[in-house]
Amino acid sequence: MASSEVPDEIHVAGRWRTGRGRPLGCVDPATGEVIAELTAASPDDVDEAARAGAAATAEPEWRDLYPHQRARLLTRVGDLVEQHAEELARLQTRNTGKALAETRALVASAAGTFRFYAAALETTETPLTPQRGPYLTMGVAEPIGVVGAITPWNSPIASDAQKIAPALAAGNAVLLKPAEATPLVSLALARLLVDAGVPPALVSVLPGRGSVVGEAIVRHPLVGKVSFTGGTDTGRLVGRLAADKFMPLTSELGGKSPTIVLPDADLDQAVAGILYGIFSSSGQSCIAGSRIFVPEQLHGEVVDRLVTAAQRLRVGPGTNPASQVGPLVTFSHRDRVAALVDRAREEGARVLCGGRVPDDPDLAAGAYYLPTLLDGLTNDSRTCQEEIFGPVGVVLPYRDEDDLIAQANDTVFGLACGLWTRDYRRAWRIARRIDAGTVWINTYKQFSISTPFSGMKASGVGTDKGRDAILQHTRQKSIYWGLDEDPLPWAG
Ligand code: NAD
Repeated sequence: MASSEVPDEIHVAGRWRTGRGRPLGCVDPATGEVIAELTAASPDDVDEAARAGAAATAEPEWRDLYPHQRARLLTRVGDLVEQHAEELARLQTRNTGKALAETRALVASAAGTFRFYAAALETTETPLTPQRGPYLTMGVAEPIGVVGAITPWNSPIASDAQKIAPALAAGNAVLLKPAEATPLVSLALARLLVDAGVPPALVSVLPGRGSVVGEAIVRHPLVGKVSFTGGTDTGRLVGRLAADKFMPLTSELGGKSPTIVLPDADLDQAVAGILYGIFSSSGQSCIAGSRIFVPEQLHGEVVDRLVTAAQRLRVGPGTNPASQVGPLVTFSHRDRVAALVDRAREEGARVLCGGRVPDDPDLAAGAYYLPTLLDGLTNDSRTCQEEIFGPVGVVLPYRDEDDLIAQANDTVFGLACGLWTRDYRRAWRIARRIDAGTVWINTYKQFSISTPFSGMKASGVGTDKGRDAILQHTRQKSIYWGLDEDPLPWAG
C-alpha cells in the first residue's frame, strides 16, 4: 500500500494482507459512496497476530531497547503522523464524515500523544522503596506482553494513539481493533508505525465485527490487558470476559453529561460552549453535553439564544471547510438518532429546532440530521437517561443548587460536566459535588494528553491518558536484594 492510497489490506502479524473474515465495505457518509473494500480479520487472524506479537516482544531488537531508545521510535511516529497530517485527516473525514477542522485537530493530537509518551517514558521512574531491614527493595515495571486495544468510530486516530503509544512505551505488543465502520485511518497509522521502525509484528490492526474479532482479542490467552473504549453495554460484556481471565481492563464508556448554566454566567460564552459541546462531531462524542441545565428564571432567554445560534450552524460535508456539523457516521446510525427523537416526541418533548433530516437537496445523499434542541421533558425521561450519540440536546430547568445537583447526578453515567459561571467559589463547590470524571468550568470539550481521563459509575473503570498510562500497561514486580553477609538467623 502506497502512502497516499486508501488502505485495501489489513495488517496482521507484521504483514499486509487480505483478512480471513467477512468482506467489509467502508462508506463515505457524506455521499453514500463506497470508498474501500476490505476483508475483515477472523479469529484465526487474531490468534496469528497475538502469537506474532508475543514473539516480537521477546526479540532482543525490542526487548533489549532502553526506554530512551523506545522513546525515540515513538517520537518518530509522532513526526510521521505530523508529516502525513493532511492525508490522514482527509481519510478520516471521508470514513467518518467529521468536519476537516476536527479531523485535523485529532491528527495533531495523535502526533502529540506519541511525543508525550516518548517524553514520559524517558522520565518514568520506578521506586527504590524505604529500607526496612538488611535488604534493598525496589519495584520494576515489566511489559504485560500483548495488549488489546478496542476503539469506537467517533475519533479513531486520536483514540488509537491514546492506546497504542502508552502500550508500546511500556514495551508491549498491541492488537488494535478499530470500529467496523471506520478502520481506514487506523490502518494508515499502522503503516507509519512500521515506517518509523516499530517492529512490524508488534502492532496488528484487525478490523471486523466486535462480537467476532473484538471478543476473540479479549478472550485470547496471550492477551494480558485490554483497553476498551465504546458503549456501556459492550463495556459490560467485555468486563465480564476480562473478569473470567483475571485480566486488567480499562474501559472508557458512554455518557449523558450535564452542562450547567448558573444564574451569573456570561451567556455569550455559555451559549457558544454549549453548542460546541453538543453539536461538534454531530454530537457523536462520549462527552457530549446532552443535558443542558438552565435556571428556571433564565429558561426563556437561554432557550431563545440557543435556538437562534443552533439554527445558524452550517450543516454540510466534512470536506467543506465551512461545515460545522457533518453527517452522522452511518445511515443506520442517523436512522437510530431520528427514531430516538421520535420517541422523545412521544415522551412529550417539544422540538425547539431540528428534529428532522435537512431538506437541502445537496445533502440528500448523506447521513445528515439537523442540530436538535428539545425541552418539555423531565430528567427521568428515557431521552434524558439514555445516550443518543447524535446532535440532540435537551434543555432542563432547575430551581436551586440542590435541585441542580440532584438532577445532574441522577444518571447511571458519570463522564463529564460543564459549568458556566463567574462565581469561582460556587464553581468549585458544584464541581466537587458532581459525579463526573472531567469537569470543565467556562470551557467544554477541551483535552490534554497530560491530564488523566476517566469515567465514574457506568462511564467506565480505570484511567486513560496522563503519565500513569505507561505504568498501567505494565506488570509490577517487587525485588528484594539481601545485603547481609551472614545466613538468615532462623535456620542457624
Ligand atoms: P461500541 O460499543 O458498539 O463499539 C466499540 C468497539 O467495541 C468497536 O470496535 C466494536 O467493534 C467493539 N465491540 C463491539 N462488541 C464487542 C464485543 N462483544 N467484544 C469486544 N469488542 C466489541 O461503541 P461505538 O458505537 O463504536 O461507539 C460509541 C460509544 O462509544 C458511545 O457509547 C460512546 O459514548 C462511547 N465512547 C466513549 C468514550 C470514552 O472515552 N468514554 C470515547 C468515545 C466513545
